[in-house]
Amino acid sequence: QPAMMRLSGCRHRVQATPLARPPRPLRPHLALAWRGSGKDKVVVVMGATGTGKSRLSIDLAARFPAEIINADKMQLYQGLDIVTNKVPVEERRGVPHHLLGTLDPKSHQDFDCNDFRDLASQAVLSISSRGHLPIVAGGSNSYIDALVSGPAPGQMRYECCFLWVDAALPVLHQFVSDRVEDMVEAGLVADVRALFDTSGGRVDFSRGLGKAIGVPEMDRLIKSERQASLSLHERAALIREAMEEIKANTCKLACCQLQKIQRLRSLRGWELHRLDATAVLDAADRPSADEAWERLVVQPSARVVRRFLTA
Ligand code: ATP
Repeated sequence: QPAMMRLSGCRHRVQATPLARPPRPLRPHLALAWRGSGKDKVVVVMGATGTGKSRLSIDLAARFPAEIINADKMQLYQGLDIVTNKVPVEERRGVPHHLLGTLDPKSHQDFDCNDFRDLASQAVLSISSRGHLPIVAGGSNSYIDALVSGPAPGQMRYECCFLWVDAALPVLHQFVSDRVEDMVEAGLVADVRALFDTSGGRVDFSRGLGKAIGVPEMDRLIKSERQASLSLHERAALIREAMEEIKANTCKLACCQLQKIQRLRSLRGWELHRLDATAVLDAADRPSADEAWERLVVQPSARVVRRFLTA
C-alpha cells in the first residue's frame, strides 16, 4: 500500500550563539570542494508535503557525507510527531538531523523566518566546518528563502543546489489523503490530545504548533470528549469528520507549497532540478515504488549533487 510508506512572523528572537569554525575540517579534501566559490555549498530539498523530501535527504546522506537541517516550520517543534510527519529516529539511518523537534512549543510560539535564518545559519556553519554537506529539507518555502537569500536582490548567502521533488497533483492529493488514514492508525488523535492536555485544554490555533494541520480540525472531538462520555459511534463520526477536514487542508497546503516553489523560481531565478516522483506515489506495490524512487529520484539527484560538489 503506497500510502503506508514514508516517502514521504520577528518579535521574539532566539539567541544565536556564534560557533567557532575549527581550524581544520575533518575531511579537508571534501571540504575544499564544498566551498568552491568561497561560499559554503548547500543542497536544498524542496517539494510539497508527501513528495518524499525527508527520504531523499537521507538517501543523499548515505552517498555523501552530509547532515540534514529541517526546514518544516511545524517539525521544528517538540511534539506532534505523527501529525507533523517527522521522520522517526529509526528511519534516519544515523544521519544527524538539526532543528527537528528542538523548539519548546510554549516558549517559541512566535518563532519566525528571521529566527529560522539565525539558527539554520549556525547549523550550516557547524556542518560545513566538519567538512560535511548541509542538506536543507522541508516544505516551508519562506524559511528556505530567508535562509539562502541575501539582503540584496539576486544575492545568495550560499552556493546552492536546489532539488525539487514534484508529483502530479491528483496523485499527490490521493497519496496525502491516504496518509491521513495511516496517521490516525499510528496515533494522530493521541498526539493532538497530548498537545491539548499540556495546554490546559486551550490551544491557540493562530500561533506556533497550534497552527499545524491536524490540531484545529480535532478541536470538536477533543472538546466533546472532555464534556461528555461519547459513544463509540459518536466518537467515530467526529474522528471521520476531522479526518476529512485534515485531508482537504493537506491538499490545500500541497497546492500552496507548489505555487510558492514556482513563485520563488521565477522571482529569485533559482535553478531548480525537478525530480518527478509521480510514479513512486502511484506505484501498485512497495517493491515497484522503491525501484521507481531509486531510478527516478535518488539516482538523478545524486548525479546533480555530485556535479555540484565537484564544480
Ligand atoms: P506561510 O507564508 O503561509 O507561513 P510557509 O511556506 O512559510 O508559508 P508552510 O510550511 O507552507 O509555510 O506552512 C503553512 C501552513 O501549513 C502552516 O502554518 C501549518 O498550518 C501547515 N503546515 C505546514 N507544515 C506542516 C506540518 N508538517 N504539519 C502540519 N501542518 C503543517
